[in-house]
Amino acid sequence: MPVDRLLPSDDARDLIALTRDIADKVLDPIVDEYERAEKYPEGVMAQLGAAGLLSLPQPEEWSGGGQPYEVYLQVLEEIATRWAAIGVAVSVHSLSSHPLLAYGTEEQKQRWLPGMLAGDQIGAYSLSEPQAGSDAAALNCKATRDGDNYVLNGSKAWITHGGKADFYTLFARTGEGSKGISCFLVPADLEGLSFGKPEEKMGLHAVPTTSAFYDNARLDADRLIGTEGQGLSIAFSALDSGRLGIAAVAVGIAQAALDEAVRYANERTTFGRKIIDHQGLGFLLADMAAAVVSARATYLDAARRRDLGLPYSTQASVAKLIATDAAMKVTTDAVQVFGGVGYTRDFRVERFMREAKITQIFEGTNQIQRLVISRGLGS
Ligand SMILES: Cc1cc2nc3c(=O)[nH]c(=O)nc-3n(C[C@H](O)[C@H](O)[C@H](O)COP(=O)(O)OP(=O)(O)OC[C@H]3O[C@@H](n4cnc5c(N)ncnc54)[C@H](O)[C@@H]3O)c2cc1C
Repeated sequence: MPVDRLLPSDDARDLIALTRDIADKVLDPIVDEYERAEKYPEGVMAQLGAAGLLSLPQPEEWSGGGQPYEVYLQVLEEIATRWAAIGVAVSVHSLSSHPLLAYGTEEQKQRWLPGMLAGDQIGAYSLSEPQAGSDAAALNCKATRDGDNYVLNGSKAWITHGGKADFYTLFARTGEGSKGISCFLVPADLEGLSFGKPEEKMGLHAVPTTSAFYDNARLDADRLIGTEGQGLSIAFSALDSGRLGIAAVAVGIAQAALDEAVRYANERTTFGRKIIDHQGLGFLLADMAAAVVSARATYLDAARRRDLGLPYSTQASVAKLIATDAAMKVTTDAVQVFGGVGYTRDFRVERFMREAKITQIFEGTNQIQRLVISRGLGS
């Protein structure tokens, strides 16, 4: 059963209908094959871009969809319900265009934003390094000014869409300490930039995650976004929005697991009745449904604050924490509902469980979300 959503406009209802149609026709028929073969679905992001789904929350003056964040996130949730890796890729694309939109000059936006928002230029977000994940300020990759260029040297880690994206929103060191980090927009074909082989991950197999290596790569200085030293605050402001994207993806995964579990529980019989009619299992399903609905409510609450221009950083961390923990619990319980076959690759629920795990880790682990939330409680 499709989720019965409370949507603010006819436009939003049309967008959800469009997304479900694309999910049915484009994503659902190939997701199992591509995830199993660890194959990148060339052209899928372009199709989403052509349908206007890669620019929903950005302003109309830049050819964005001008939609409230609460609508964008529900579209993202629908995509993730069908294919988590594509949901993550869409969310990361939004994350990577945020710095240019929020901190770029008019001239920079005119040059690069239309291509990004149309989905002709797919973005990746490159903050992490092997020794700098939670502690982003410990990053080492260097950007040294030399005339009209920055010379980039060092390595980055864990880049979603690494080697496939068209641009990389890079955070690199131009000085000392946390105020010595700057943000750059790097084209994928920059000389001196190369990528590692895709990580062998637990899930999200269809979209590669790689390292990147900069070896005396000369970048035009006009690709600095914001000012020198502003990088870390740009990175964190992008992550506030990005975490809401991950919360929506997590709810999508949980919803998919719930749907599969409910379907199976209505078909499978033991002791002469459907397993959903055993109260022990019916209550398990009820708890799963309650977890999905309440997780969705937390990301919508944060999104509505963002849409109203209110501070939402704490609420974004709450949403990420609640939604991703719910996804882990609900997907694990979905495997339980299936019994033995749940532990095989014959059903999607085992994939959902593997996919849910990463949502508790990236864009700030859930320990880091608790850090953000507890800091917000201080006087
Ligand atoms: C599939 C995948 C995709 C990713 N995509 C991207 C991407 O596109 N771009 C990007 O920049 N990064 C990306 N990442 C990196 C991701 O954001 C980091 O892995 C994450 O932030 C955690 O960093 P870490 O792995 O270095 O773990 P660490 O920082 O080493 O943490 C290890 C453990 O210690 C805990 N910990 C650390 N510090 C504290 C503390 N102060 N208090 C309590 N606990 C703490 C953590 O919660 C964790 O449990 C991706 C990672 C994966 C696996």
